[in-house]
Amino acid sequence: MNNSFDVNKIRKDFPILEKKINGKPLVYFDNAATTQKPRQVIEKIQQYYTEMNSNIHRAVHTLSKTSTQEYYKVREIIKDFINAEYFEEIIFTRGTTESINMVAQTWGRANLKSGDEVIITEMEHHSNIVPWQMICEEKGAKLRIAPMTDNCELILEEYEKLLTEKTKIVSFTHISNTLGTVNPIKYMIDKAHSVGAKVLLDAAQSVQHKIIDVRALDCDFLAFSGHKIYGPTGIGVLYGKKSILEEMPPYQGGGDMILSVSFEKTEFNYLPFKYEAGTPNIAGTIGLGEALKYVQSIGLDTIDEYETKLLKHAAERLMEVEGLKILGNAKEKASVISFIFDNIHPNDLGSMIDLHGVAIRTGHHCTEPIMRKFNIPGTSRASFSFYNTIEEVDYFIESLKKVVKMLG
Ligand code: PLP
Repeated sequence: MNNSFDVNKIRKDFPILEKKINGKPLVYFDNAATTQKPRQVIEKIQQYYTEMNSNIHRAVHTLSKTSTQEYYKVREIIKDFINAEYFEEIIFTRGTTESINMVAQTWGRANLKSGDEVIITEMEHHSNIVPWQMICEEKGAKLRIAPMTDNCELILEEYEKLLTEKTKIVSFTHISNTLGTVNPIKYMIDKAHSVGAKVLLDAAQSVQHKIIDVRALDCDFLAFSGHKIYGPTGIGVLYGKKSILEEMPPYQGGGDMILSVSFEKTEFNYLPFKYEAGTPNIAGTIGLGEALKYVQSIGLDTIDEYETKLLKHAAERLMEVEGLKILGNAKEKASVISFIFDNIHPNDLGSMIDLHGVAIRTGHHCTEPIMRKFNIPGTSRASFSFYNTIEEVDYFIESLKKVVKMLG
């Protein structure tokens, strides 16, 4: 681990971590839902609005040129962050959800037909289920589900059995937001390609924890959200291989996605603008660029190593809590732990532990099929970031013990 990593110094970059909740210091363990923002991101957004606010692309005046340059720089930052080959492969969206919908509605509409198959897994977020259900229904294609074990690891033999010449696209998550399971993505991508299927990787829960190299992975599409990687809400990314994006029809029509418009015919713009109709989220994009620079300044290797330490410590100490069962015991896990009790509803637990200043998420986490598989209403989920500490984990465990004693 990078010797200069100093969690106390890092915490000073996150103003919200100074906050008291119900009179107690905030312990923020809801990082899988959204991450907190460092001062650098907040200040960059403020700087944008106070010094350069102006619409991009079209004007020749100085402010517009400045904001356009700042906006364009972010595409390069993202390209390098995920090791894409061309800046044209980076499309700005509202987030992972919109990125997946865009692929389903454009690539899917152009390429799926009756009898074709789309594969997802049993551990997907609703954002990677519903868009495929919608387009499969429209096209008469079939949605196939790769199952997982009771430990919440994908059953690779079953996944491979589903792959046939009918499979047109496979879309799966790198890391499960509910279970923390890390999927063997390179293996899965190669297997999907061996039957000629395209692959979309949902990196909403991984891009902030693991190094992603789209060229080494050879995925065809990749989706992630800015707000889960210390950037603003309302901005995200769709990466797509240039050759595929060039062939796909546009998503929405409007300004910027055109080269010329007449009432008879519209000529669409080049990549990436073809997929970016209308005034984009300029401040959000610039904020995202700053967030990625911040993450790079710490280093994803260092982040992964530190968060793994927090995860292991939390998993061990949770075993001290009477009646607690961890849901998801995959060998490869990232910094998310879901747990359940036979006799305590997760929402009661979440509200009570909030009184101790601890923010965890409770419910189905937008993965209702997982809840159905285990016949439970929901789980309690703690998810960690590099700004969390071992002391916070210990405080969480002690608070949890008190809450369980009261509720149990
Ligand atoms: N996919 C996964 C694995 C997620 O965890 C989430 C959000 O929690 C999403 C997709 C959707 O992300 P967003 O709501 O930012 O579009």
